[in-house]
Amino acid sequence: MPQGDAEHVKCLILGSGPAGYTAAIYAARANLTPVMYEGLQAGGQLTTTTEVENFPGYPEGITGPELMVDLKKQAERFGTDVRWGMATSVDFSGHPHIVIIDEKKIIHADTVIIATGATAKYIGLESEKKFMGFGVSACATCDGFFYKNQDVAVVGGGDTAAEEALYLSGLCSKVYLIHRRDKLRASKIMVDRILKTKNIEVLWNSIPKEIVGEQGVNGVILTDAITGKERKIDITGFFVAIGHKPNSEIFAPYLEVDGVGYIQTKGISTKTNVEGVFACGDVMDSVYRQAVTAAGTGCRAAIDAERWLGEQH
Ligand code: NAP
Repeated sequence: MPQGDAEHVKCLILGSGPAGYTAAIYAARANLTPVMYEGLQAGGQLTTTTEVENFPGYPEGITGPELMVDLKKQAERFGTDVRWGMATSVDFSGHPHIVIIDEKKIIHADTVIIATGATAKYIGLESEKKFMGFGVSACATCDGFFYKNQDVAVVGGGDTAAEEALYLSGLCSKVYLIHRRDKLRASKIMVDRILKTKNIEVLWNSIPKEIVGEQGVNGVILTDAITGKERKIDITGFFVAIGHKPNSEIFAPYLEVDGVGYIQTKGISTKTNVEGVFACGDVMDSVYRQAVTAAGTGCRAAIDAERWLGEQH
């Protein structure tokens, strides 16, 4: 832990996705003068998506980045101090809680709201690491443009994979959706769109064995999950969309987490096992994981923090 002068804050919010910003709006309006550190990916995962069609209040849809800009403006309008930086370690053994930002700045916080979200998972292939940024990506909206008019593959069978494949189908000549089973996990509306899109081909029961290429990617070798047979698909871009891992590592020594790392909260509240520490959004929700549910838990976290502070006097 670094030594030196500490800044004292009443309510510290870590993370700037829909959960963090909603917590900030509520905390600021309750006079908790919240300080928010945006984290590694300012605006959270929605900044890497295109159209958000299911956030209530936007009948025509809104892009992820636009939604996050609006949420930030709303949080700042009520006085949230939004700062660049991320929590690198914490000490929740006493009170106030100690949070270190970027390995040097020390914050003493009466309440901490953890809204650090989740990060994309990778398959774990050696070739995946080798070609990272040179043909392998976990974000179609960030990198899809580089594969314009080329053939690409998306791995996964959930809503993220479906969304990525649909986005890429508008840019690329052909999109292979590689799924390890014979049924997609994605919502019905997304499955229907995938099956109706002419330049998307679903490769069922297919498991990526290795990504191949020299300077960049030129193909992927797939193993058939039923027959064990291998075949090569020619592609130049390989997009991984197989789910996410909660960003809870630095808190895990103090907080109860499940086997995957999701922070455990008490009942319908956002209270963790440490007094004055609350968790909201994708870092604690392994079930719903929607922008609107994250926003809902962010609201609850701010209300829980406000009530907890009120009980301390
Ligand atoms: P997910 O629902 O957990 O799906 C992950 C997919 O990746 C599954 O199909 C899984 O296969 C596959 N997979 C996992 N590990 C794999 C591996 N090692 N190799 C190959 N395939 C692997 O994750 P998600 O798609 O990121 O969605 C997460 C949540 O966010 C969901 O609740 C989803 O509804 C939501 N979401 C919503 C929207 C939206 O509403 N606009 C957009 C994106 C995500 P199996 O099916 O065989 O397990």
